[in-house]
Amino acid sequence: TEACLAAIDGAEALGAFVHRTPELALERARAADERLKAGGAPDLCGIPLGIKDLFCTEGVPSQAASRILEGFRPEYESTVTAQLRDAGAVMLGKLNMDEFAMGSSNETSVYGPVVNPWKVDDRQLTPGGSSGGSAAAVAADLCLGATGTDTGGSIRQPAAFTGIAGLKPTYGRCSRWGIVAFASSLDQAGPMAKDVRDCAILLKAMAGHDPKDSTSADLPVPDFEAALTGDIRGKTIGIPREYRMDGMPEEIEALWAEGRQMLEDAGARIVDISLPHTKYALPTYYVIAPAEASSNLARYDGVRYGHRAKLAQGDGIVDMYEKTRAEGFGAEVKRRVMVGTYVLSAGFYDAYYNRARKVRALIKKDFDDAFAEGVDAILTPATPSAAFGLGEMAEADPVQMYLNDVFTVTVNLAGLPGISVPAGVDRAGLPLGLQLIGRPWEEADLLSTAYALE
Ligand code: GLN
Repeated sequence: TEACLAAIDGAEALGAFVHRTPELALERARAADERLKAGGAPDLCGIPLGIKDLFCTEGVPSQAASRILEGFRPEYESTVTAQLRDAGAVMLGKLNMDEFAMGSSNETSVYGPVVNPWKVDDRQLTPGGSSGGSAAAVAADLCLGATGTDTGGSIRQPAAFTGIAGLKPTYGRCSRWGIVAFASSLDQAGPMAKDVRDCAILLKAMAGHDPKDSTSADLPVPDFEAALTGDIRGKTIGIPREYRMDGMPEEIEALWAEGRQMLEDAGARIVDISLPHTKYALPTYYVIAPAEASSNLARYDGVRYGHRAKLAQGDGIVDMYEKTRAEGFGAEVKRRVMVGTYVLSAGFYDAYYNRARKVRALIKKDFDDAFAEGVDAILTPATPSAAFGLGEMAEADPVQMYLNDVFTVTVNLAGLPGISVPAGVDRAGLPLGLQLIGRPWEEADLLSTAYALE
């Protein structure tokens, strides 16, 4: 813990930690020492972690990187962070992210961007988003692991951009209670760490049924670490042809082929499969996610939490809402609230939101069909490129940024587990990731396959 705290102090330029909790960390580390001395302590006892700012942490600022939650210190602890704490893990502080987890470059944060610890010459790169702080902190050895959340790729894309491993569990595997909601039918917490084994250890502590989240599954939590045999002989791995996109860089194509070969060499059977509705995934996601966000973010009204705008003489309650929300939300969040309100409006509900829900069911059915035909896991690239330069995409039109999520959003729409595994570097020496998608509730199996790829 002391070494991590010193490393965090020395790495301020990365912008990964937005709030540090050194006293609390040292206190928990001392308690962990006692537990270790007493014997029988859990795996995570004394392990220093970073926590994404989207998780509510008791008495510690939890702002979802938004101005609108300025000054908000929850009186409660999210279930996931409470479970990590109870397993002896030590929280070092809160990690930077895109505002309300909306973004793929960590540039929408009220705290400013995070810098990727990987560099080419002097070019500063994004660590990806929205869990950019988590990814950068793990990659730069500021902590041994971190929590992330993934609504459309926010664990897997930053993991790929920083050369670490990141798992989005099956929807319902980890409780969403106490995590600031973005799109409730897609959001899921998961571990980010240096390798697959560390992800397995973290997931075991994070997962489990929680009566406070009605969508959390009442299923036993397996020992994910014990399941890491890496023995994939006889397993069937699907390669979906629709993920071979026009204009895909050769290096990504080559990486994918290499991954396929590695799994084959390890004894897996490789089959070409079709997920025909893949091309509708991005538009479907960018209807459903903003729709749910517009509803979830209605609670930030200047009354209940955080920031409230200064009012002028004669201002009424509507002025307060309008001024508070105008000041409190950044541009991307406002864009999502407007899109979401529009697709849910009486005149357009059927044309957009209802249609997106139907297409979502078809996307899920594509995966169900592949699994029913005996596919155990699906291999795809994690991202369509390596990390891009800070500022490069933010200046382009927002759709350019959304295209980053092309390989990851299907997994959230279908509620499946997906993992990004570090898989080499591109010509410039930047990390690239491969994604494995598994059957629902079979994270143990998925982690074991990912272990073979590592
Ligand atoms: N980049 C996607 C978005 O902006 C995904 C974000 C996420 O997974 N939280 O919505």
